[in-house]
Amino acid sequence: MRWFLVGLATLGGGFVPSLGAAAPIRPFSTVLLDPGHGGTDNGGMSRPLSGGRLLEKDLALDTARRVAQFLRARGFHVVMTRTDDRFVDLDERVRVANRLGPGAVAVSIHYNATGDRSIRGAETFFWHADSHGLATRIERYLSDALGETGRGVVRRRLRLTRNPTIPAVLAECAYLTNAREARLVAQPHVRERIARAIAEGIVEEARFGDEGIAAVPEIWAPISRGAEVRKVSKQSRKKRHRKHHVSTSIERVDRARPFLAQAFFPGSFMLR
Ligand SMILES: [Zn+2]
Repeated sequence: MRWFLVGLATLGGGFVPSLGAAAPIRPFSTVLLDPGHGGTDNGGMSRPLSGGRLLEKDLALDTARRVAQFLRARGFHVVMTRTDDRFVDLDERVRVANRLGPGAVAVSIHYNATGDRSIRGAETFFWHADSHGLATRIERYLSDALGETGRGVVRRRLRLTRNPTIPAVLAECAYLTNAREARLVAQPHVRERIARAIAEGIVEEARFGDEGIAAVPEIWAPISRGAEVRKVSKQSRKKRHRKHHVSTSIERVDRARPFLAQAFFPGSFMLR
């Protein structure tokens, strides 16, 4: 009921009970890094560049490896859902996260793609209140790494934000379909910068928890299921390997809707 009290406080104007963070994060020393896509699933891709197209699956793996190096150097135990170019089912990624149990967080690493080539900027997704701090810190550092204003933290119910029992976020580091960002992330030193940014966000959250992070209400939603992905994919007539990126219009809705409205009208969030 805590989210409801926060909602009342918001609606009531002057009445703001001291609730602190909605769900304080537990201390963690293990980080699950989840490079998106892999194997037959390329994820998104850039337009052809001089070296060919950039594939999201390759950039995600390269970035995750770099993040792992930074974190291990800082004493974290790092687990990865894949360390080479192989397909890993979304539910298997969730199972790996849930096997780690308390004391761990999960960070899924992606690069975005969309039909509108003007769209750019990092976005970080979360669902549970206990993941908001981690998402906020990672997004802050990621935006700085690209030298631009990020697209912000977005609450979205995805398999990898809703289903893990540990705090879990999904970072879309940049848009491969934006010419400027594609040129940037094609360079290893820029991916190193991005990786350091993600690592800094994680280290900061491990150190400070949700201190200074705005509280968000916990919102209940059913487990995210693969059947929803297929439904969405069919409706949008997108290729299967692009299923991760089909919901750009929903994403804007996510951002625009107040949290209470999401709680009462969760229908449009039944994605993935
Ligand atoms: Zn992706």
